[in-house]
Amino acid sequence: MLKGKTALVTGSTSGIGLGIAQALAAQGANVIANGFGDADGAKAEIARAGSGIQVGYHGADMSKATEIEDMMRYAEKDFGGVDILVNNAGIQFVAPIDEFPADRWDAIIAINLTSAFHTTRLALPSMKAKNWGRIINVASTHGLVASANKSAYVAAKHGIVGFTKVTALETAQTGVTANAICPGWVLTPLVQKQVEARAQQQGIPVEQAKRDLVLEKQPSGQFVTPEELGALAVFLSSEAARQVRGAIWNMDGGWVAQ
Ligand code: NAD
Repeated sequence: MLKGKTALVTGSTSGIGLGIAQALAAQGANVIANGFGDADGAKAEIARAGSGIQVGYHGADMSKATEIEDMMRYAEKDFGGVDILVNNAGIQFVAPIDEFPADRWDAIIAINLTSAFHTTRLALPSMKAKNWGRIINVASTHGLVASANKSAYVAAKHGIVGFTKVTALETAQTGVTANAICPGWVLTPLVQKQVEARAQQQGIPVEQAKRDLVLEKQPSGQFVTPEELGALAVFLSSEAARQVRGAIWNMDGGWVAQ
């Protein structure tokens, strides 16, 4: 379905980004991966998910505009531009506001929010020229509701929800769409850290901390998976979704229905 398209998925060496990159690859899209850690391993996993596709990688630090610009030039030069842009890279830090380190605030806003402005502004000219594009922002249930001790994350995710709507309006009369996905809990390294902190603080086994963490927010009592989020990204990339514009789509086991 996506043969001939190129998807750039930021933060795709792990977790949700890797799941979305694999799902798009399975539909025939070429993929440009990004993120820290095991780049070769991620590239190999994405390549295995597709057949006859090209898989590239750029290690831009998404907190740095100049590195993002370099990544977008690489996409233009080696892949003829980005057709499907998935803004997924993200980090978390948990502390009350009056103890929140200012440098963590800046990093979360830069990586979880400002990076999407840079990739979007740089991807749009070629998407508009082709009159086809898909921008998928990985927000969070924390783009819709708040939790204590996550001030920077909640601010960034509410911000990206607003940015998604503006992008959708500015592209409304083109073949470019912009939407956000709002996952609930997904058991990735980002959440594993929070599970372990909870187990330690409460002196309970990790398995119990995992169950408690999910049930506190998600009526389903089950984690969302990167594969399920990948399937949603594939739908949003499809022709059937061409009039899905500015949707803020939660996949969260019922979290925000309460
Ligand atoms: P993860 O830690 O497994 O993956 C994060 C990815 O971002 C990694 O590839 C990492 O290398 C990359 N990354 C981090 N900082 C970067 C930087 N400065 N430059 C480039 N890449 C960077 O986390 P995840 O849970 O898969 O999170 C992915 C996205 O999903 C994030 O935006 C997160 O906020 C969002 N999200 C996660 C959950 C969840 O429960 N896990 C829920 C809702 C939303």
